[in-house]
Amino acid sequence: MAKPYAEVIGDPIGHSKSPLIHGFWLKALGIDADYRATHVTPDALPDYFAERTRDPDWRGCNVTVPHKVAALAHVEDRGDVRSTIGAINTVIRAGDGALIGSNTDAPGFAAPLGTLDLAGKPVTVIGAGGAARAILYALARRGVGAVTLLNRNVEKGAALLSGFGLDGQALPLDGAVPASALVVNATSLGMTGQPPLALDLSALPDDALVYDIVYAPLETGLLAAARARGLKTIDGLEMLIGQAAVAFELFFGAAPPRERDAELRGMLLG
Ligand code: NAP
Repeated sequence: MAKPYAEVIGDPIGHSKSPLIHGFWLKALGIDADYRATHVTPDALPDYFAERTRDPDWRGCNVTVPHKVAALAHVEDRGDVRSTIGAINTVIRAGDGALIGSNTDAPGFAAPLGTLDLAGKPVTVIGAGGAARAILYALARRGVGAVTLLNRNVEKGAALLSGFGLDGQALPLDGAVPASALVVNATSLGMTGQPPLALDLSALPDDALVYDIVYAPLETGLLAAARARGLKTIDGLEMLIGQAAVAFELFFGAAPPRERDAELRGMLLG
């Protein structure tokens, strides 16, 4: 009998770390299932969902670039993802056979923040793409105060702030980072092969937290600058593992062994 499986779909897909993460947890828990990477082009997306709907072994999929918005047309939204984040990264099949889309980037981003109290506090978010949408959704739910959104395309940033009902202002990327409890980089700047993200952090209070969702390299220029100032930091692998953990439980019905995160991080960096 074939094994149950889940997968990540994208175009390209070879770079994805999801098979390593889910494979590590499946092995750790002794679950006899697979998690694979499957190359799906935009043209093939409708056929992909039609075929997988009929496959009894398919538990669901993660969805990555460029399908996060397009996949919404093929699934039911039993939450608020369509009207809020507007993009999904996880699809599962419900007991009634329906394909259900959700976005685990938002809880994956929020999990490393733990119980940090951000209610009413000023925050700065850099970026206005898909990841920024999930992050602004998560921050709005935590009741943050004024949001300074720095983005190359300022109009896009302003539209996001008003779309999520957040107070604050959108500024160009060369705007200085104002005093903030939390600074999040949600652009691809600082990633290997991309331009660096050069920001002046001097206005941040000493207890500010700096969070970079870029994970290649793990120690970005932003995190290095924050550490040099003695600020607390969170790196991109924490969100990557966090979003995968929520999806894993949806696919395989078991909580991943997060007490083994240090080992998992070592494997991902090796
Ligand atoms: P996206 O939708 O394409 O958005 C890209 C963002 O980066 C936009 O704000 C864009 O600005 C900005 N940007 C890109 N190139 C730029 C440049 N040369 N100069 C200035 N701004 C630039 O991408 P995404 O899906 O949001 O992903 C963004 C990053 O987050 C990627 O590095 C991705 O790997 C990472 N990510 C990490 C996780 C995790 O779990 N750790 C999850 C999701 C994404 P404009 O709006 O002006 O174009």
